[in-house]
Amino acid sequence: MGEYVTHLESAIDATRLPAGTLQTMHAQRPLWVRYDLDAVGKAATPETFIARPATMWRYRELLPVPPDAPLVSLGECLTPLLPAPRLGESLGLDDLWIKDESHLPSGSFKSRGMAMAVTMARHLGVSRLAVPTAGNAGGALAAYAARAGLEAYVFMPADTPVVNQMECVLAGAKVYLVNGLIGDCGAIVRNGVAPMNWFDCSTLKEPYRLEGKKTMGLELAEQLGWFLPDVIVYPTGGGTGLIGMWKAFTELRTLGWLRKERLPRMVAVQSDGCAPIVRAFQAGERFARPWENARTVASGLRVPAAVGDFMMLDALRESGGCALAVPEESIVPAMQEAVKREGISVCPEAGACVAALGELRRSGFIDPQERVVLFNTGAATKYVESLPLRLPTIADPSQVDYARLA
Ligand SMILES: *Cc1c(COP(=O)(O)O)cnc(C)c1O
Repeated sequence: MGEYVTHLESAIDATRLPAGTLQTMHAQRPLWVRYDLDAVGKAATPETFIARPATMWRYRELLPVPPDAPLVSLGECLTPLLPAPRLGESLGLDDLWIKDESHLPSGSFKSRGMAMAVTMARHLGVSRLAVPTAGNAGGALAAYAARAGLEAYVFMPADTPVVNQMECVLAGAKVYLVNGLIGDCGAIVRNGVAPMNWFDCSTLKEPYRLEGKKTMGLELAEQLGWFLPDVIVYPTGGGTGLIGMWKAFTELRTLGWLRKERLPRMVAVQSDGCAPIVRAFQAGERFARPWENARTVASGLRVPAAVGDFMMLDALRESGGCALAVPEESIVPAMQEAVKREGISVCPEAGACVAALGELRRSGFIDPQERVVLFNTGAATKYVESLPLRLPTIADPSQVDYARLA
């Protein structure tokens, strides 16, 4: 195990499980990886990390990878944290930043989790992996499995964006289109564990994808000089990004490395076409009921039920944050507005966050001068179906009427 990992801990009832062997869930709920943070604090300082190569692996004292385990890596960079002044101005925000995860291999932040999960699975002797996916998780698993020389099975709803289908096929995964939603795909993977002898890499059904996502929070802290922002706005599906970041922040707080007392208010954004976490947050509940007839162009947010629902809701409440559903119709226009203003390849999921920011300003949840970080979880270009292109044509290149181009 990672040098400083002490054990795994059930997120629902704190049961301790040994690290160092293959683990999935406990009582149908996710596991935390726990570290000896006192020992980490003696072995490393923020400067230790900064001196190492600029990849997610530089935080190794806070990661589960054993020192002798080879990494499965596609060159995960530190992603840019970009000021967004033009978009900020249009939203009434003076200090808006975008953390651009579209730079990662396979074009989404799912790479962080899958790089970690596949590294750990291979180390623990797994040779066949399977995942249900709304899109990007499948693409990332297929890529990292190929990189590791492991077999991958991917199950996705039939209307998953075509680029996600293509990236899985290219990487040699066995891909199946399922007449159903991600929950149906999840059941296929779960029921196939025994007959197919594959390892289930579903969101939060193994403990290590979360540790990979945690690096998003570590990296953000480092990029801001260990001075976290006031508000983080995050598009929420299965919840690993939100939960992983919150775990990073609480570990950094325990280590005493943060230079600001208050942790960020975490905001979970969903579409009103699929908003189970928002509904549970507003009702004051700790668990979310499954959403019926889930639909949204932001495919990463089309998760009607999540095993980590209570972990998300706990993080939102502990942070003093909130959960917000935006009108489905607002997502693509907001995405386009963001790309137009900043040139950043903003995906529909992050477009939902842009729409949410307008609402959070109007309601007074965010003050104009507060520092806000919006996560762009993936590349816009993976969603070719989201924007119907009706471009004017030039039928005769020798007869261009320039007066009509304006
Ligand atoms: C998976 C995904 C999400 C949702 O992420 P979670 O951390 O699982 O909630 C958001 N955006 C994109 C682009 C995704 O692929």
